[in-house]
Amino acid sequence: MSLGMASNVYFSDMRTRSGRNLLDKVSALYDHANFGSLIEKGDFVAIKLHVGEPGNLAYIQPPVVRVIVEKVKASGGKPFLTDSNTLYVGCRSNAVDHAISAIQNGFSFATVGAPFVVADGLHGHSTVKIPINGPRVKEARIGAAIAEADVIIALSHFKGHEASGFGGAIKNVGMGSASRAGKQEQHSSVKPEVDESKCRMCGRCVKWCPAGAISFEPGRPARIDHSKCIGCAECTISCLDEAIAVNWTDAEINGFQERMAEYAYAVVSTKKGKCGFMNFVMNVSPDCDCAPWNDAPIVPNQGILASTDPVAIDQASVDLVNAAPGMPNTRLGQSFDSDDKFGSIHHGVDWRIQLIHGERIGLGTRKYKLLEVK
Ligand code: SF4
Ligand code: SF4
Repeated sequence: MSLGMASNVYFSDMRTRSGRNLLDKVSALYDHANFGSLIEKGDFVAIKLHVGEPGNLAYIQPPVVRVIVEKVKASGGKPFLTDSNTLYVGCRSNAVDHAISAIQNGFSFATVGAPFVVADGLHGHSTVKIPINGPRVKEARIGAAIAEADVIIALSHFKGHEASGFGGAIKNVGMGSASRAGKQEQHSSVKPEVDESKCRMCGRCVKWCPAGAISFEPGRPARIDHSKCIGCAECTISCLDEAIAVNWTDAEINGFQERMAEYAYAVVSTKKGKCGFMNFVMNVSPDCDCAPWNDAPIVPNQGILASTDPVAIDQASVDLVNAAPGMPNTRLGQSFDSDDKFGSIHHGVDWRIQLIHGERIGLGTRKYKLLEVK
């Protein structure tokens, strides 16, 4: 990837025909993007994905992942599926629950043909420190199995996100590869507030907070203790009344997305020239897949993209979403013809920051050439 030059992004739309189903198209995208050339015989190949928080059905389906596993094996690599544990309370916050969730969502060896290895160990402490000396991150803390792999192929479900506008390749690799301490570092500027006028005092948010930072007395609005808060933003999606929001200042929103891009840079820097990215612009839900539900997609399914440049593939994906007609009866509300769909949903969050910063630090380029694979 060289700044100034456009990166190739291969794209297949959702149309299929006899002899060319979506699995065939995934295989063709892998070949066109030349992912096989990233792999040498015996390489450990981390297939970085999100196995889906149980209850959320928008994750990339196991038969799609199996295609990639088989391609990697044919290239001589040793594939394994991987993700790091989550910060928030849920079904993927330690390696045992995470592995069980993977099986429940269909990522068994029998189905996919590769084992699921939790990248950062039982409690999220299995970390490799990667010095990058970036503008915001000096030393990234990455899940050991991802840091130590020879190759990474990141399969990302492209969707909205409450703290970064959208989540794609940069978020999947930057946030998703970080160990617990690394995730905390990236989230350190996120400080949500309760809007007392909207709070209906149900107490639901208290159970979701992994840090015990939310207190609640019956008959009074919830309160957040910022000295305990680790900034996971989980409470913002737990509140059904939208009473909790992050009151972003420019410095805080920039800090979060910039740290995320620098973490992605750290992962990529451990495997120069041996990284592939596929974005699935399908079931584009408004919020991240951490939630055990996925709200109605805001645009029709657009297709699948493949590139060796994480910035270019995310730029191409967001451009597809913004150019698509919005879906009625979704979180877009009346903004369905907006040319900034994620901005219409997540007010005050500018998703461009992760792309601009990614380009600035040499993670990739926002210039891309979209090459259609029929
Ligand atoms: S979940 Fe929302 S409405 Fe319920 S107590 Fe928390 S902030 Fe208030
Ligand atoms: S209060 Fe802080 S730690 Fe608790 S859920 Fe919200 S963001 Fe996470």
